[in-house]
Amino acid sequence: MEKKIRLRYAPSPTGFLHIGNTRTALFNYLLAKHYQGAFILRIEDTDVERNVEGAIASQLDNLRWLGIEPDETIDKPGQYGPYTQLERLQTYEEYANKLLAAKKAYYCFCTAQELEASREKQLVQGYASPRYDRRCYRLSEAEVNEKLKNNVPTSIRFFVPDNESYDFNDLVRGPVHFESKDLGDWVIIKSNGIPTYNFAVVIDDILMEISHVVRGEEHISNTPKQLMIYRAFEKEPPIFAHLTLIVNEQHKKLSKRDGHLMQFISQYRKIGYLPNAIFNFIALLGWSPLGEEEIFIKEELIKIFDETRLSKSPSMFDVKKLTWMNNLYIKKMSDEEYLAFTKPFLASAYDLTNKADDWLTMLLLIFKKELQYGQEIVALTKPFFVQVTELSSETIGMLNNLNNYQELITEFRNQINQLTNWKEISIKEIISMLGKTLNVKGKDLFMPIRIFASHQEHGPELAKVIYLLGKEQVIKNIDNLLNSNEK
Ligand code: GLU
Repeated sequence: MEKKIRLRYAPSPTGFLHIGNTRTALFNYLLAKHYQGAFILRIEDTDVERNVEGAIASQLDNLRWLGIEPDETIDKPGQYGPYTQLERLQTYEEYANKLLAAKKAYYCFCTAQELEASREKQLVQGYASPRYDRRCYRLSEAEVNEKLKNNVPTSIRFFVPDNESYDFNDLVRGPVHFESKDLGDWVIIKSNGIPTYNFAVVIDDILMEISHVVRGEEHISNTPKQLMIYRAFEKEPPIFAHLTLIVNEQHKKLSKRDGHLMQFISQYRKIGYLPNAIFNFIALLGWSPLGEEEIFIKEELIKIFDETRLSKSPSMFDVKKLTWMNNLYIKKMSDEEYLAFTKPFLASAYDLTNKADDWLTMLLLIFKKELQYGQEIVALTKPFFVQVTELSSETIGMLNNLNNYQELITEFRNQINQLTNWKEISIKEIISMLGKTLNVKGKDLFMPIRIFASHQEHGPELAKVIYLLGKEQVIKNIDNLLNSNEK
């Protein structure tokens, strides 16, 4: 029988969904779905002090928003639950007991102070990486039973066999080799009864029949410990893929302390980045398809995802590229979708009660081509809602470079003022007729009109901008500039 394909994303509830853990979730998801397998989301909450309230609900919500829907998870249990480690303590205990019975693990009664003293002694003796000195391993059975009877706090340590090697063929790194002599006996169950990550993760991956483990490269050094547990239970380990780092534009590891860089999905979601753009962008962080094409929707990515094409070098988190992609996906929206997407941003910033639907629709649509993210519509449409008093330095620069515009602007103002039929087409006609009669064209025609009428040096189609600003506002804008230029 062919092995089932089951992958998992196993966040610790220590934080919110950021670029790095989204990439891990996404690659697990894509690989699972590519092989028609299952994608599981399991919560690894054994590091109790570090758990953050609300982190898991928020991670799940944001993953779902991106379209990364688990087949099994806390609120959607399958036959392998529970999906939260703190609800599985009994299972870890059972498995630890099996190791104890087989003498592959032993009770350790050392206190934190004793362990620290032994560590320091080894450091003084010149051991660069001190390890547990196995003093509890040497306790007799009677001594152990005595301590257990007296409720001396105890942890359970895994006995690392001598002279063993641990090899795996990482999908990203290729062959990786570790030797047991470099590792000391390590704790699998802490004295509070809670398992350590390296133990719980393996028990869960075995019981949940996980076929592939895709995770960040910081877990490579944990892998030999995990392989020991598979070997102790005579279980076949999964296939591992340790993804390379994500770096910032300075080629430094992405750090949550890079305050200036938005790294959380919720931040992008809030300001109007689209889920399919983020999905597409993150799929290319450490993976690339064959060929030059970069724009793929979820279904295409599932189809073409190929685990042999995971990148061996770090990938750069390039916000400009994400924004470029987002604009692309905005442009791909139907006009209806686009209007439904942008209107709430506008409504949150301006009073739209007296605005006609047609006017709003036209206003939003003129920015469809250039809009990079939803929230940007607020800044782009500002001149249509509030009087722009301060010109940007670019606009002032352009204004100062204009020559011979007096007649053009005066004429334009007159014609606009006399216009009774306020329509885009009539405005267009005025502009083209002025061009002909005054013999100006191109930039010499459009730039002065644009600056005087809208107080901006660039923007969407000029006649549409003028139409949307309305006669009164256009005249006001022109007069403001004419007056201030005469001073
Ligand atoms: N809970 C671990 C983490 O958040 C999961 C590591 C793994 O996938 O094995 O890093």
